[in-house]
Amino acid sequence: MVRIVYLNGEYLEETKAKVSIFDRALLFSDALYEVTSVLDGKLIDFNNHMKRLDRSMTELNYPRKLDHEEIKLFHRELVRRNNLKEGIIYLQVSRGKAERSFDFPDPDNEFTVMAFSQVKDLLNNDAAKKGIKVMTLEDHRWGRCDIKTTQLLYPSLAKSSADRQGFDDAWMVRDGHITEGTSNNAWIIRNGTVITRQADNLILKGITREAVAECAKELNYKIDYKNFTINEAQNATEAFITSATTFVTPVIRINDLEIADGNPGMFTKLLRQKYIKKALEIAI
Ligand code: PMP
Repeated sequence: MVRIVYLNGEYLEETKAKVSIFDRALLFSDALYEVTSVLDGKLIDFNNHMKRLDRSMTELNYPRKLDHEEIKLFHRELVRRNNLKEGIIYLQVSRGKAERSFDFPDPDNEFTVMAFSQVKDLLNNDAAKKGIKVMTLEDHRWGRCDIKTTQLLYPSLAKSSADRQGFDDAWMVRDGHITEGTSNNAWIIRNGTVITRQADNLILKGITREAVAECAKELNYKIDYKNFTINEAQNATEAFITSATTFVTPVIRINDLEIADGNPGMFTKLLRQKYIKKALEIAI
């Protein structure tokens, strides 16, 4: 089956969808994106992804917003046309095609809006069952990691570097404190408290992070939004990551040290189950 993608109002076979070489996404990474997971052919937490897209657009002075209903429609249509049961829909909006210039184009310049589906085993995969190993490295990203831009070269470099060294991902570190994973939020549990970094300009405030925090509260865990060091993480009782594609995935090793006995933590497993149950209940 040929994949059908969405580009500026049209549904096209993936090889027929073409974007200009002058698109600002290509020349300046002047583009924002969202990844919505799909379970049972339904969108998970779609409205919150749209709220974050609006925020990203505001922060980067995009002159107007997109219509959420329209976006929902083409997300659903991509799910339907590609017969997607489990996976993701990737959405990207750029400031559009314009003669190369550091100035932003005219405010009524047309955005480039594109989306495509990817099949992915979100529920049952090795990482979820066995946990992942992460290494740490310096966080060299820009100072506005709270905006979900396509400027992803450093996280990509970090992930590849982790892969090469036998790890599954990298946790990035700034001023001695862990910021986040290359494409996920980082969490630990110490003394019965669930800890994740405060949402500042140095991390992306994950949609899954918010939903998982709610689940942890419902399970009567206390949450502390604060910085933690590599050493604190290595000495945690449990560690895990969250994102739209990994949900809640255990971390079992950080650099050369195992977390606790080196197996996925009990609470992490419980949190994953609860998150998935709730996500399915509110899927649209
Ligand atoms: N941090 C970064 C840097 C990310 O790229 C992502 C995934 N897009 C996340 C956190 C998790 O965000 P979400 O839960 O919304 O997928």
